[in-house]
Amino acid sequence: MSESEISQLVSLLPKRIAQLGELAYNLWWTWHAEAPKLFQRINPVLWETVYHNPVKLLRQVPRHYLTAAYQDFRFLETYDHVMDDYARYMTPAFNGSVPWFTRTYGTWDNPVAYFSFEFGLHESLPMYAGGLGVLAADHLKSSSDLGLPMIGIGFLYLQGYFRQRITEDGWQEADYDQLDFSQLPITHVLGEDGSPLMIPIELQSRTIWVQVWKAQVGRVPLYLMDTDITRNTPQDRQLTYRLYSPDPDTRIAQEIVLGIGGVRALRALKINPKVWHMNEGHPAFGTLERARELVKDHGMTFAEAQQAVKRTTVFTTHTPVPAGNDQFQVWQVERLLTGYWNELGISRDEFMALAEHDGNYGMTVLALRMAEKANAVSELHGQVARKMWSWMYPGREVPISHITNGVHSRSWVSSRIRRLFDTYLGIGWASRIDDPITWAPIHEMPDDQLWQAHKHNKRRLAEFMRDRARAKWITHRQHPVQTIASGVLIDPNVLTLGFARRFATYKRAALLLRDTERLLRIINNPGRPVQIVFAGKAHPNDEPGKLLIQQLYRMIKNADSAGRLVFIDDYDLNVGRYLVRGVDVWLNTPRRPHEASGTSGMKAVLNGAINFSVLDGWWCEGYNGRNGWAIGSDTVTTDYEMQDRADAESLYQTLENEIVPLYYDVDYDNIPHKWVDKMKESISTIVPRFNTRRMLRQYISEAYVPLANGIVESVE
Ligand SMILES: *Cc1c(COP(=O)(O)O)cnc(C)c1O
Repeated sequence: MSESEISQLVSLLPKRIAQLGELAYNLWWTWHAEAPKLFQRINPVLWETVYHNPVKLLRQVPRHYLTAAYQDFRFLETYDHVMDDYARYMTPAFNGSVPWFTRTYGTWDNPVAYFSFEFGLHESLPMYAGGLGVLAADHLKSSSDLGLPMIGIGFLYLQGYFRQRITEDGWQEADYDQLDFSQLPITHVLGEDGSPLMIPIELQSRTIWVQVWKAQVGRVPLYLMDTDITRNTPQDRQLTYRLYSPDPDTRIAQEIVLGIGGVRALRALKINPKVWHMNEGHPAFGTLERARELVKDHGMTFAEAQQAVKRTTVFTTHTPVPAGNDQFQVWQVERLLTGYWNELGISRDEFMALAEHDGNYGMTVLALRMAEKANAVSELHGQVARKMWSWMYPGREVPISHITNGVHSRSWVSSRIRRLFDTYLGIGWASRIDDPITWAPIHEMPDDQLWQAHKHNKRRLAEFMRDRARAKWITHRQHPVQTIASGVLIDPNVLTLGFARRFATYKRAALLLRDTERLLRIINNPGRPVQIVFAGKAHPNDEPGKLLIQQLYRMIKNADSAGRLVFIDDYDLNVGRYLVRGVDVWLNTPRRPHEASGTSGMKAVLNGAINFSVLDGWWCEGYNGRNGWAIGSDTVTTDYEMQDRADAESLYQTLENEIVPLYYDVDYDNIPHKWVDKMKESISTIVPRFNTRRMLRQYISEAYVPLANGIVESVE
């Protein structure tokens, strides 16, 4: 497989630093401590303009900047060091540093295939909407770190999700950019004849063609499918334009392309996965495609094929919210997949019965019927999911376990905090992150060092907000009050809360606004003020979600809030990184038990923020009474009004009586030592558990290895 995009870029660069061209095409650089600074140093202004996309940077930067870089000995020193690390990482066999997976389980000749609708790897590759995609990306990054042979498969969206703009009246508007694929860190996958690989998905109703691209995630290749090719009808070309199309016809065709097309793409690439992992139900049609192969090529009955597929399939369910579990009208499935059941050797009714739920065709139902291992993403979510799907298993235990989500620490930790960890926990702490002993020395870290590192990150967040506000102000297209709403009055010395997430109603972003008088008293308390930074998108078709943003934005614009409430628009991975690093407290107010796990709080804790959340998702198992604060109790009621009232009261009380006094209890050295103690308690009890190294090792020992070795008990 030739990768002409890479060699072409390498050939454009001065020889001494030509390997930057290769580095630009491997997302490994995004989680290395110094590699991002290397690109940034070439031209810091352009680096921001190209939104941290090194392929764009290197293609666009005037030659003399590259010349200056290779004549600067400090640049070369960093360059050599990064390239050394890169070579060691990519070819561990040659330098004796065998990765953990290989040491433990030996060499696997075939990989685990990980299917996902979205992957949130980096802001320069906008193929994600939110948490599901970020988790999928962190899953690939950690697999790469551990040396687990894995390949990812998903979509290359021409327009990504959408970019958010907020009008003066607080209304969310969606902008769609057309991406230029030649400027992204991806390469064309070529067929044997050297032209781009094209894969037909032949359905009786029509044939959809896909071409395949590759993004490299450390050692893990991620294959991205794209239907925007001239061979397709205009309608099919649009299938990969946008993520989460609200149009059910588009959506079902997308899921057929992801599932069935994904399997065919891997076959064309001669990849023969040992284990197949479905991230959410979207790729579940792929299990039928694998059954079809077995029926057609191996003469199995459907029942035999189903068992064979199941034995190598893992399914992760991610949401207890019904709307998050995709389902289609039976006639829609029939229209697109008509006749497919003949190839499986079953009748139409048997085919539909595989996924039928309340008269609809449910992707989660199909996935559960076709996977031997199914898991939820937190302990509480496991309980909820088992209850939710118990109707499928009358009189039997529901075979859904849980593997709690985590975050990829190297992608989320700030440089300042990383350096402190290097010093006090020892270099390589990230490879021992899931061992509690690694974290014991944190209590020896001097308070002022942790506090100064944290204060530095708070100042960075304030600068970031000011720069963005200024960039919008100068366009003459913004009302002055929007400049204030974007955070220019923020003071890095003031207690700062962060709230960033999807504006879905169950996340209850407006809980804080239930008693506005009380909220204003809290934020404007003389001598002890409080700031709150909000960010997040509503799905473009979610009117209640957009109304929530508007309600919040009106409060933010109100002069009574004194510029201490802020909304950062267009929440993405870049905004997310600044936020989780630069706030003191991470706030989360979902309606229990609707949040399956959540991960942003874990990113914040890694950087020293303290979690303040409803006991839902991961926090229910992470909270120990000392490492943060809980909102409300751990009960569930169906009386939403009562629950909201009780939770809001609890939120205000804890803020007034515990959080604010603790933050402002500073000693003569100007450091709130009791607060810093809590930061340490939070880091040392939460980080070792809520990371993707622990998570991946659990997937490996509980799912991938047992399935690969065929030592699972059948649940049917
Ligand atoms: C981590 C992250 C999420 C997921 O966070 P939740 O805790 O599930 O809300 C969503 N979007 C971005 C950009 C993130 O970085």
